[in-house]
Amino acid sequence: MQIIADLQLHSKYARATSPKMDLFEIARWSAKKGIDVIATGDWTHPLWFREITTHLKEVSEGLYSLKKPASDQDREVKFLLSTEISSIYSQNGRGYRVHNLIFSPSIEVCKKIIAELMRRGAKLMSDGRPIVGISSHDLLELILTIDENCLLIPAHAWTPWFALYGSKSGFDSIDDCFLELSKHIYAIETGLSSDPRMNWQVKELDNRSILSFSDAHSGPKLGREATVFTCNMKHEACNISYADIVAAIRQKPKSHLKIGYTIEFFPEEGKYHYSGHRVCNIRMSPQEVKKNGKICPVCKREMTIGVENRVLDLSTRDIAETDVLHKQNKNGLTFVGDREGKRRPFVSLIPLLEILLHLTGSPTGATRLYDSALNNLGTEFDILMSLPIEQIQSRQGPELANAIAKLRRREVSIEPGYDGVFGKIAIDISEPKEKNEKQDLLF
Ligand SMILES: [Zn+2]
Ligand SMILES: [Zn+2]
Repeated sequence: MQIIADLQLHSKYARATSPKMDLFEIARWSAKKGIDVIATGDWTHPLWFREITTHLKEVSEGLYSLKKPASDQDREVKFLLSTEISSIYSQNGRGYRVHNLIFSPSIEVCKKIIAELMRRGAKLMSDGRPIVGISSHDLLELILTIDENCLLIPAHAWTPWFALYGSKSGFDSIDDCFLELSKHIYAIETGLSSDPRMNWQVKELDNRSILSFSDAHSGPKLGREATVFTCNMKHEACNISYADIVAAIRQKPKSHLKIGYTIEFFPEEGKYHYSGHRVCNIRMSPQEVKKNGKICPVCKREMTIGVENRVLDLSTRDIAETDVLHKQNKNGLTFVGDREGKRRPFVSLIPLLEILLHLTGSPTGATRLYDSALNNLGTEFDILMSLPIEQIQSRQGPELANAIAKLRRREVSIEPGYDGVFGKIAIDISEPKEKNEKQDLLF
């Protein structure tokens, strides 16, 4: 069986999030998407923490579910105590801003971490994702001193402004950031702007797990990226715990769960994939930056350097799009893997609502179709990844079936994002036999 996990999101107590983001909304959307284990998010926030302790009960060690699920939540969802902290600090005379995820094995451990953060002056009430003056290294030391089963994972590791490897305010290596504690960094979360292939180029990530989560700020965005764990037991026999998930991330040889694959955005859709200047209307590929330099030809200042360039700067080997293996499973879903077969593969998806929005051209039409597709077929991940195309066709029509078949085969066209502008991914939805007719583009 497989367990789909999305272990980064924000509640209504974080900035720029949907006011609906409470535990019920998160559980309801997780069920629709087909997510099995979801982050609570924001457990350092006093009011959110009170909601967590009021509404959740422990169902297996370190995993929680709603005491009273909403009547329209038709699938069990487990919560893991995951939160995000923004560290803004200086180290050796330079300023850094790094976002890290913290997984906690229990409510009790959360309480201890919260108390220690407050003792060090953290203002936890101000934001679900609090800003602290504690360095990433000291934060890691703090949580491991409280409980060695805590896990710290650098979040959206390649975004320019707030990340471990960020080009603007990050480090060049995990060692530089976490010093003697770097062996306790078992994984990074890659963010929307990078996919595993890009990360396979960086040597210090060779023996670390490459994870993907949504960082959602509203229900519909849950699961837009996720990590899928696999287990060799039958569903009924398998009662997973916090420790199982952490052991899989740490790649413990005898762990009950393993990381199976990750679910990714097309990284080109991310806002910082290529380099450029939005205001100057300049966008450059990594190769163009290599050739022309990092200075914007319009304003003559340095461009916002995209994720792909930053990865190239820190990489020790070059793995181009053409160096990877594409393998389709029986459902036509394409898994992208490395040639040596040493890394966990990934799949790239477009959210179902986005596909429907462009099939119908109207948000209300898309929402109606989304609900009917879920009622008729199953969860969103079932529809995107595993249901037979014929079944989608017979229940929801050929347009959606065709778009999903193409998505599974990675037949998409791509316009990369840059300097805060989202990229565009298009699926050609015209029938292949009608070649002479004007091609109809999704998105
Ligand atoms: Zn963040
Ligand atoms: Zn410029």
